[in-house]
Amino acid sequence: MKVGILGFQGDYEEHARIFRSLGVDTILVKMPEHLELVDALVLPGGESTHFARIIKRYNLEEPLRAWNKPLLGTCAGLIVLASEVVDHHPGLTLGRLNVKVKRNAYGRQKDSFEAPVKVYLEGKEAEITGVFIRAPRIVEVGDGVDVIATLKDGEVVGVKQGNVIGLTFHPELSGDDIFHRYLIDMIPTVSP
Ligand code: GLN
Repeated sequence: MKVGILGFQGDYEEHARIFRSLGVDTILVKMPEHLELVDALVLPGGESTHFARIIKRYNLEEPLRAWNKPLLGTCAGLIVLASEVVDHHPGLTLGRLNVKVKRNAYGRQKDSFEAPVKVYLEGKEAEITGVFIRAPRIVEVGDGVDVIATLKDGEVVGVKQGNVIGLTFHPELSGDDIFHRYLIDMIPTVSP
């Protein structure tokens, strides 16, 4: 089993560290061919407008639209997975999650914050620490999308549509591996 992490920019190393602690190998994905080598993929946090440029430049746009294995996007990763982005620079929307997101919705870097996040997965509830860095806000949740994480006041900060997960925060920075474990669990096991 191998997990790919889009490896041009952003906090891919923190994601890799979490998978390593779970005993899972990772590779950095930079070319369409790399997608064939992995069973799940992470689009990390970073700068979504930059991701938009590199995804286009390295011909990853169509492969990412067609990718049907488990997929996790955190922060900037969520922004490129969304179906609609509210901003002067919307970048690229891969339309993998039927949500509308607003970039930098809590303000600038200095307005970054940590907050408790309630997680709802597989009928179970957990609480983790969410690290929000120039985070987007999920302003509309469309059909087919489940809410899997909220702030205490109910604000939606995590969604799932089929095997695609999007989070406005960074579980990899607080060291919470609940979503990484869930991503791995979504990889179908091949019977011998
Ligand atoms: N503000 C960034 C963007 O809009 C996202 C920040 C992050 O990934 N932590 O792309």
